[in-house]
Amino acid sequence: MSGVLVIYNTLTRKKEVFEPVDPPFVKIYHCGITPYSESHVGHLRSEVAVDTLRRTLRFLGYIDIAISNFTDIDDKIIKKAKETDMRWDEIPEKYIKYHLEVIKEVGNLPFYINPKVTEHIGDIVEFVGDLIKKDYAYKGEKGIYFKVDKFKDYGKLSRRKNPEAWGQELDILEDKIKPYDFALWKFKKPGEPYWETEIGEGRPGWHIECSTMSSKYLGIQFDIHSGGQDLIFPHHENEIAQSEARFRVKPWVRYWFHIGYVMIDGEKMSKSLGNIIPAKEFVNKIGAMPARFYLISTHYREPLNIKDSSIMQAKENYRYITSTIKTIVTALDSLDRTYYLNRSEIILWRNLLEYHKRFVDAILNDIDTTTATSVLLEATRFINREIIPSEKFTLVYSAYEFYNIVNNIYACWNDVIYGNSKGTLHTKLTNKLIELLIEIRKELRKQKNYELADRIRNTLRELGINLLDKGLKTEWRFI
Ligand SMILES: [Zn+2]
Repeated sequence: MSGVLVIYNTLTRKKEVFEPVDPPFVKIYHCGITPYSESHVGHLRSEVAVDTLRRTLRFLGYIDIAISNFTDIDDKIIKKAKETDMRWDEIPEKYIKYHLEVIKEVGNLPFYINPKVTEHIGDIVEFVGDLIKKDYAYKGEKGIYFKVDKFKDYGKLSRRKNPEAWGQELDILEDKIKPYDFALWKFKKPGEPYWETEIGEGRPGWHIECSTMSSKYLGIQFDIHSGGQDLIFPHHENEIAQSEARFRVKPWVRYWFHIGYVMIDGEKMSKSLGNIIPAKEFVNKIGAMPARFYLISTHYREPLNIKDSSIMQAKENYRYITSTIKTIVTALDSLDRTYYLNRSEIILWRNLLEYHKRFVDAILNDIDTTTATSVLLEATRFINREIIPSEKFTLVYSAYEFYNIVNNIYACWNDVIYGNSKGTLHTKLTNKLIELLIEIRKELRKQKNYELADRIRNTLRELGINLLDKGLKTEWRFI
């Protein structure tokens, strides 16, 4: 491993040096969506944050094994089925498709598996059966519940030590021994889907699925559990209680990685305020890669306040970085491959390498993308001001390497950096054709045929190429 990752752990409320249980493997479980409506920009942010974490781990030489569930049976899905003409099982199908499409569009790595609850009923029943056997669970009239009092560490993740702050599932208070016990299994209700099992006819409670499916695919102890900050209590607290009670491992999960809230113009995103932005709408409006860049540019634990002005700024920054990379890629093809640098060029090189270091340092410090993005912009200004005009292959190549490192983490510029296999040939041809057009334009201007000369300039601009007249010389850049 090159470099040490420091990561914030919600369990300890500290930044800790990251050390996986079984290096080089890093096992990650991400709490996925309940697919009963279109994923919104908050879900998208969460997914992109986990993707950035995975890419950081890969950059350090780890092998990540990341999975994420779909809660495809739940009260919300049943409610939606009652409100619409759809069958309950058609609802998750529709919204899982939507979700997978949008996370693919923003370039996320696919998860190793997206296990669904309805495909793991047998495993869940076994889990609940074992908790009953170990006396951590009891049967009521309406369901089977976890005995919170028996689990002494309850509240350790959310730092809620007072049982008065544990109340949950208050609609079934009369069926539970304690108001803070929670359902592992819900017995069937008329008109609702259920499974016939040895612990009774019914369906799983919400929390049990994540303990069951994570242990099935990752083992009884794993490295990172992620999800939105809103899941810390009760969901993740309950997952810990169930899993540590059954598997008798402490800690069940080593690092808890929680992603901050998304707000819209300073307000919480909610159905009642009518300000929910569906993920696809967000991506279509901004463009997939600028949207990805925008979501990454705020540190994952900070709240992200979505505003038109900050979106515009991010789009402009994205465009500036992209055009710089394009210019570099083109320059590399045409520059003389001499590696000799004079004294002042060596100073420029050192300054450039300092940006490499500062960018990586920010990422290794709890994936601080807020700082990393400002280093990236500062570096881009420096590259435009000093590196590209130097026309030195060594320096320009080093700038290319810088963006390569950035792209390893951000993954916003795959097309620009790697292009396609015909890239070199096409770039050389493009260079020559543009130089030819610049020559012709020069001739036309000499002949005072400004109309045609301007047509060349304007058409090139439409194609994404800017001509800059500097005295007698004309330079060109990608926009
Ligand atoms: Zn979960």
